[in-house]
Amino acid sequence: MCELHRLGLLGGMTWQSTASYYRLLNEAVHDRVGGSASAPVTIHSVDFGDFEPRQRAGDWAGQGRILAEAAAALQAGGAETIALATNTLHLVADQIRAAITVPFVDLVDVVAEAVAEYATVGLLATNYTMTSDMYPKRMADFGTQVIVPEAAEREIVHNVIYDELQVGVISERSREAYRAIMAGLVARGAEAIVLACTEIGLLVDDSDASVPVYDTTALHCAVLTDYMIPGALA
Ligand code: GLU
Repeated sequence: MCELHRLGLLGGMTWQSTASYYRLLNEAVHDRVGGSASAPVTIHSVDFGDFEPRQRAGDWAGQGRILAEAAAALQAGGAETIALATNTLHLVADQIRAAITVPFVDLVDVVAEAVAEYATVGLLATNYTMTSDMYPKRMADFGTQVIVPEAAEREIVHNVIYDELQVGVISERSREAYRAIMAGLVARGAEAIVLACTEIGLLVDDSDASVPVYDTTALHCAVLTDYMIPGALA
């Protein structure tokens, strides 16, 4: 019987996807360790009602400060690894990294490596992520180019996340809209689609596009599981 390593998870952005993380992490640990094993995870879940207006106001440093303090508290409470359960807030990952001494498992790095085999990927995310250089820069290191929908379609993708998915609304109309937007990215040369927002996997999956679909929540959880299981890291 091995002693698993404790994971500290910064969540609540939004709680819908943190719930997915919690389920996926527990399922993966149980599948791999067996018996009654489950994920030793401490979750610091923020109030997204405080974060969302800060995002609209461009207060990224303020969100970074809150997350950095929370990460330090997770470490002080025994977390041996820290992860942030959202793509968008990786815009302030450096502030979090600076507040801890245990490893921070960066979602953007995980995803960039996972799709390194493609020359071009299409990215769906919040408008903050889609218009930032966070993914294009990191993926360029692996020779992958990122394309995103044009402005009007980005607005649709963004609003579905904030108006529907974060409050648990799954709409067939929005699924159709996402399918059409993904098809447009494929027509422009995307060889794969990256769901670079941790809630989007609640709406669409592999069956909704003609190319492989990568869900960042699932990719992150698979790597985080390796950090919890002693000896699992390559
Ligand atoms: N969970 C989302 C993401 O992965 C968006 C919500 C947020 O702003 O954190 O980007």
